[in-house]
Amino acid sequence: MAEARRRAPASTDDEHALVLFSGGQDSTAALAWALERFAGVETVGFAYGQRHDVELEARRAVLAGLREACPAWGQRLGADQVLDAGVLGEISDTALTREAAIAYDAQGLPNTFVPGRNLLFFTLAAALAHRRGIRHLVAGVCETDSSGYPDCRDDTVKALQVALNLGMAERLALHTPLMWRNKAQTWLLLESLGGDTLVELARERTHTCYRGDRQHRHPWGYGCGACPACELRAEGWRRYQAMRGRAPEA
Ligand code: ZN
Repeated sequence: MAEARRRAPASTDDEHALVLFSGGQDSTAALAWALERFAGVETVGFAYGQRHDVELEARRAVLAGLREACPAWGQRLGADQVLDAGVLGEISDTALTREAAIAYDAQGLPNTFVPGRNLLFFTLAAALAHRRGIRHLVAGVCETDSSGYPDCRDDTVKALQVALNLGMAERLALHTPLMWRNKAQTWLLLESLGGDTLVELARERTHTCYRGDRQHRHPWGYGCGACPACELRAEGWRRYQAMRGRAPEA
């Protein structure tokens, strides 16, 4: 009887996914990965007072570009929402949410780390997925070539999946296709999913720079070229070009 009374998970659909999509290189690769695997893909982004809020504009540009470049993917792209997570900006004292120089603490963690950010984002995305009847969540977090953010770790995401499923009586699956890829391998993933067209789209339209710089154009895209996010992206692009046997661009 106890078994019969146990509530079934609300979401049992394996055809749809919800992608946490910021407009950056990694979440664009995660979105392309999801578009290859699921019949319907919705996207969610978060406005949290980030200094680089140009990434919210990048989201729209990437989504439009995906629809243009690949009509089959365009047909799978469903609703897109940007949720207000401004409370993070109110309670955080970080270089992403206020004008401050980027620095590192004694543990080597940069002050671009926003405590609780991904924990909150996954929780809000899970609540949205619950309402939408979606059980597959996809995010572009990764441990390799990351800034060492603890909320991007595989253990964190797996623990969160358990916590969300217990707390919401769900059977959510949190997918992290980039978890063990370095940035060069992420470019390779983009290439394998959408060829040079997708690589070019990601290079031109995604935004990574913490300072929100869209003025300076580099071989790897736009950015200040000096913040940790730009340095990671530049190094990943350089290694990707080397793997493809291409000489670095000037
Ligand atoms: Zn930068």
